[in-house]
Amino acid sequence: MKPMSLPELMAADRQHVWHPYAAMPNAQPMFAVKSAQGVWLELEDGRRLVDGVSSWWTCIHGYGHPRLNRAAQAQIAQMSHVMFGGLTHQPGVQLAQKLVAMTPEPLQTVFFSDSGSVAVEVAMKLAVQYWHNRGQPQKHKFLTLRRGYHGDTFAAMSVCDPVNGMHHLFGDRLVPQFFAEAPQIPFHGTWDEADIHSFEQLLKNHSDEIAAALFEPIVQNAGGMRFYHPEYLRRAEQLCRDHNVLLILDEIATGFGRSGELFGCNHAGISPDIMCVGKALTGGFISLAATLTTRQLSETFAQGEAGVFMHGPTFMANPLACAVALENLELLESYDWRGTVQRIEAQLRAELEPCRALAGVKDVRVLGAIAVVELEHPIDLAVVQPQFVERGVWLRPFGRLIYTMPPYIIEPSALRQITQAIQEVVAGLVP
Ligand SMILES: *Cc1c(COP(=O)(O)O)cnc(C)c1O
Repeated sequence: MKPMSLPELMAADRQHVWHPYAAMPNAQPMFAVKSAQGVWLELEDGRRLVDGVSSWWTCIHGYGHPRLNRAAQAQIAQMSHVMFGGLTHQPGVQLAQKLVAMTPEPLQTVFFSDSGSVAVEVAMKLAVQYWHNRGQPQKHKFLTLRRGYHGDTFAAMSVCDPVNGMHHLFGDRLVPQFFAEAPQIPFHGTWDEADIHSFEQLLKNHSDEIAAALFEPIVQNAGGMRFYHPEYLRRAEQLCRDHNVLLILDEIATGFGRSGELFGCNHAGISPDIMCVGKALTGGFISLAATLTTRQLSETFAQGEAGVFMHGPTFMANPLACAVALENLELLESYDWRGTVQRIEAQLRAELEPCRALAGVKDVRVLGAIAVVELEHPIDLAVVQPQFVERGVWLRPFGRLIYTMPPYIIEPSALRQITQAIQEVVAGLVP
């Protein structure tokens, strides 16, 4: 690769390259990154930014962690990829064992895939095929929550919030699902049984068509950064059992300590039938996701019409990704991650709570290493993004939300730089 000049790079980017949720040519502000180390992004123009979003919540141990780099190099020396059909390998098997050990006990089998959206597709296919295996093929729909986000492929989209996800654009290409009202009682609020009413009604009326309930536990992430009450999760689990519907929890964002527990479901002491993980799984090193299931579910497939589960990605259980993920999870277990996340939580709360008094601020909320300043009005990213960059901070607000999900390795001084920038930028946003 020959290096391009910065103007050349930016011009070619505008001309040829799509970015996430962008138009062509891209109208959003764009910054070229040269390298990343620890919690810092180094831009091509030499500026350094502290990454307050962990590259979309993935790099929990920062960039270029020596242990992850060493694990990757060692694995590359062995093999970076082989197919998984008919072949198996140490990184895939050991990572599966590790995931089974970390997650609630009933989850015993692991299906690897390349991205979170695909892990959700796999979960949905598993649930539909499970009921087919059991002679109840009419149970093929899903019950989900408004304000959820589960990815951008068609089946995953069908369970995303219909308004945020602009479902109307896709017409009848999108399978209609059942949407319960989003939980309203906040994580630290007082539980009220009315919060689960809409979920319960839908189950009562449609459980003969529903394969599974599928939603994000405790934290609704990209659909609104909302933290809801653990009792909702306990009640939802019980209702699913009572109505003979599977429970799928999408832990892609909450997994691996982010909300203060290892998984969102640990806040409620419950266990799903199917769990999706991704994002922080490889510490942001490389794309990998997984769908875990109970043995009770997986054991029905041999007797079904197909005799197998009808899915098998080309790059399934990529050894390089699995080796890095395994090292990342061993790294997570090697220090007091819980205490670390608690310290981040305390600092975020202390330093962002003053934002509540600023004009235009609707709410300030913190859970684990997640902090959100919710505004009264939507933010203009083209205005706000450069304001953060000028303050040496990388954040990616959306809608009415400015949030941070920093790497767990962040020092108090760098975290302070993020919260200071949020305060200053919010204070300057007078409508
Ligand atoms: C990011 C995310 C996904 C999609 O993951 P991709 O890797 O972007 O496909 C699914 N569910 C949740 C909860 C997520 O946060």
